[in-house]
Amino acid sequence: MVMTTREELESVCKRRGFIWQSSEIYGGEAGFYDYGHLGARLKDSWEEQWKDFFLSLDQNYHLVYTPNILPYRVLESSGHVEHFSDVLIKCNRCGNSFRGDHLVEDVTGESAEWMGKDEIKNKVEELNISCPDCKGDLGDAEDFNMMFEVDIGPKGERKGFLRPETAQGTYMNFPREYRALRRNMPFGLATVGPAFRNEISPRQGVYRMREFQQAELQIFFIPSIHDALFEERLEEVAYTEIPVMRTGDDMKKMISVDEIKDLPAYYIYHLSKIYEFYKDIMEIEGDIRLRELSSEERAFYNKIHFDVEINMKSLGGWKEVAGLHYRSDHDLSQHQEGSNKKMSVPADGERKVPHVIELSFGVDRNIWALLDLGYRTGDRDWLTIPDKLAPYQVAVFPLVRKDGLLEKSEEVFNKLNTKFRTFWDVSGSIGKRYARQDEIGTPYCVTVDYDTMEEDSVTIREIKTTEQIRVSITQLEEILQKLTEKEKLFDDYMG
Ligand code: ATP
Repeated sequence: MVMTTREELESVCKRRGFIWQSSEIYGGEAGFYDYGHLGARLKDSWEEQWKDFFLSLDQNYHLVYTPNILPYRVLESSGHVEHFSDVLIKCNRCGNSFRGDHLVEDVTGESAEWMGKDEIKNKVEELNISCPDCKGDLGDAEDFNMMFEVDIGPKGERKGFLRPETAQGTYMNFPREYRALRRNMPFGLATVGPAFRNEISPRQGVYRMREFQQAELQIFFIPSIHDALFEERLEEVAYTEIPVMRTGDDMKKMISVDEIKDLPAYYIYHLSKIYEFYKDIMEIEGDIRLRELSSEERAFYNKIHFDVEINMKSLGGWKEVAGLHYRSDHDLSQHQEGSNKKMSVPADGERKVPHVIELSFGVDRNIWALLDLGYRTGDRDWLTIPDKLAPYQVAVFPLVRKDGLLEKSEEVFNKLNTKFRTFWDVSGSIGKRYARQDEIGTPYCVTVDYDTMEEDSVTIREIKTTEQIRVSITQLEEILQKLTEKEKLFDDYMG
């Protein structure tokens, strides 16, 4: 049985050491979260796997790091100063703030993200929506810019903002990296780091944070030249079926890439690879869909936009965790105009501003999805999580703490700990120790018992089935390697 409410899952995450509200001892601050000792390991391994997977798609995709604070001019050029706002509505009675589109969506069940403040105001009146907290009358609708403004310099001489997305840093680095990469295109710049949005009402746990982590990859290319290259790469994904929901469809369908051939090759290729990441690395297959956004739903500069949505019980259904945006030459053109620096490159006998396709992932939402889909209760409480992502991959126990078993288990632990994220637990009954690892998602438990002392073998217990196998210590590392790398199944080792 999976956990069904956010409160239930939040409470488990808190107790076990995954995630909880920040500044907890002072009562907490909405929209800010801490990762505890297990959450931090999970988040780190997710980010490592993300980088490994997406950077290996092309040897010209690279990682960069850029600052969290951006000068005013950058975000003015990008359009964020003018447009990065949500519609805010306050309650006249209790004073609580709400996102206008969410108030409308809660009543109609349909996306209202595209609506401007006048449309929202009219809808709120038409539908007679009152304050969800106290049923009081709602006030006027106003645009609220979600960026956190900061003063740069000791006297606040210059204005800046905490970056609302990681992307602007990579766009600005386009001309420098174009030269550093010896004018080889297409190229991609990825970055993983924090983004900040002063969300109006962050009430959905880590789903809507004010400081969150993004993992983004921007690929710079010239469609007329590079489409042929991506067309060739479609062969790589030709055999994949992907769960797609096109605009106008009311449910997802598993389709082959041939069935979305109306989209450009660079888009289909990256959409398929994103699904592969979810299927192979996050091991999510059924509860995922790639949903196309209609022209009303997507930003005007996103010419094609699919969101990755995961069906999360704790959040009441399908929720966005990532997106694939074809942004045309919008971003580089804006920065060319704002900075007066050339962003164009020689192409087709003239100069052209490169286009961008952007893969944008919210790290925290993906971590939450793993926990939501993975936590089970029933006969035992356990977390099923892919071996490569688990906070600990292996736990080592002595059956008892005497007769040399403790020392032997420490020896085994020291050996495994250099290769795997390993935990050594010597306290409590063996049943309790298995239960503790089940609760935190450790896929394999290795036990040192009396037979170990006789014949140098140990048992490995698998979390999913709770089955055990006995293997010799000399083979232990190799077997665990094969299991965690998914080269072998646990079943393959069963007698
Ligand atoms: P939403 O519609 O939910 O506000 P968005 O479409 O504005 O999100 P993007 O600007 O496309 O989000 O950001 C890319 C990714 O960053 C999202 O897919 C999501 O995973 C993550 N993200 C965005 N806002 C938040 C937030 N407030 N808290 C946590 N993650 C977020």
